Amino acid sequence: MGLSYKAAVLHAAQTPMAIETVTLAELKPADVLVKIRAAGLCHTDLEVIEGSLRYPMPIVLGHEAAGIAEQVGPAARGVKVGDHVVLSWNPHCGHCFYCDRDAPILCEQYLGEGPKAVAFDGESRARLADGRPLRQLMFLGAFGEYCVVSDQQAIPVPKEIPFDRACLIGCGVMTGAGTALNLGAIAHGDTVMVIGCGAVGLAAVQGARLAGAGVIIAVDIDPAKLTLAAKMGATLGIDASKDDPADAGRRATGGRGVDVVIEAAGSAAAFRVSPEAVRPGGHLIWLGKIDVNKDVAFRWGSLMQEKRIRRVSYGNARPRRDFPLLARAFLDGELMLDDLISRRITLGEINEGFSALKRGETIRSVIIFD
Ligand SMILES: [Zn+2]
Ligand SMILES: [Zn+2]
Repeated sequence: MGLSYKAAVLHAAQTPMAIETVTLAELKPADVLVKIRAAGLCHTDLEVIEGSLRYPMPIVLGHEAAGIAEQVGPAARGVKVGDHVVLSWNPHCGHCFYCDRDAPILCEQYLGEGPKAVAFDGESRARLADGRPLRQLMFLGAFGEYCVVSDQQAIPVPKEIPFDRACLIGCGVMTGAGTALNLGAIAHGDTVMVIGCGAVGLAAVQGARLAGAGVIIAVDIDPAKLTLAAKMGATLGIDASKDDPADAGRRATGGRGVDVVIEAAGSAAAFRVSPEAVRPGGHLIWLGKIDVNKDVAFRWGSLMQEKRIRRVSYGNARPRRDFPLLARAFLDGELMLDDLISRRITLGEINEGFSALKRGETIRSVIIFD
């Protein structure tokens, strides 16, 4: 018998997760057993719960987590027992067509194995009490007391950063701040608009500040989120329920339109308005998601002049480079993570935590494990 631990198991979409005792399978040579200390509730998990993002079940969700490397396989590299780690959801093979082209987020093994929701080698690392294999979302499954990952997913960070703040780096902060900092789209003094001020958008606002943007326009329909955006570096807040973001962008730029628009709202309305706000020749970056089977409509005139449009899903993450840098930025006071955490909850409160996320009440609820 392997190690047993508690995890939140989703048996079917649109049903509550159940806290169950599950059993760990044997560790493989390049595996790392991580004792999870904090895990954030992200919209991607919610998409699986709601059924708009489909995965095999039963599954343990959770892909934004931090913990302690408790066991490290003999072939695992870059991490040692006792390290504090932030988990990455983008393992990659290192030798396929896309890895050779410096695009690990498109790695053929990553994209091929991802829909199976097991470990990177195609096998599950945990079982239910009745022996059925458990799926792990995004090669992780971090809504449990333990999680087995490949060595390239366990990224050591400085021990000074508290786990509840550190976990945010693994998804939302990497996605938002990384997009602003890693793509080279934002030039010093640029006008940047961030549409949607959830965790990803607020991290994008901060990334834009760190990248030297001159004017940062935050757009949301929730005044509380605009207040947070202002605290994190936005110089102008637009309530999209009262004001058209594209008009606001033109007013702020002498009629030209903004240099860089980062869409982080994940709604058809946000996608549609996003090119309207970009100046000719400017950058448009989409981070949000909607149901993959749904259509999005655009006014052709908003796309006709040359614009650079890019879809980005993990902020061009190179986790071994970026996670320690982001942790250091937090420790140096440059990256504000405290206010991204709306609630600290227990594993048993996970279903209510996702209900609150769906109602738009929280930026991030973070599960704290003792
Ligand atoms: Zn996420
Ligand atoms: Zn690859």
